[in-house]
Amino acid sequence: MLLITCPVTRTDELVSDRRITAVTNHPTHIALHVDCPSCGTVHVYRTGRRWTATQAARAAAVGAVARRAEQSVPA
Ligand SMILES: [Zn+2]
Repeated sequence: MLLITCPVTRTDELVSDRRITAVTNHPTHIALHVDCPSCGTVHVYRTGRRWTATQAARAAAVGAVARRAEQSVPA
């Protein structure tokens, strides 16, 4: 069983393993393709320590760019 949050309906769904249609192993994460019982489409959920680290680094980089943009606005 897997607990997912549907990005379409924003509801939490407990889905069975047979609804996982594909599992793809990537260097930074594992991607689970889940047939969503809530909206009927396939969502991809990524999991893994390196993926979390990548996302944190990306968020920090976006934050740094945003701060630079704020500073470059003329007073
Ligand atoms: Zn869904």
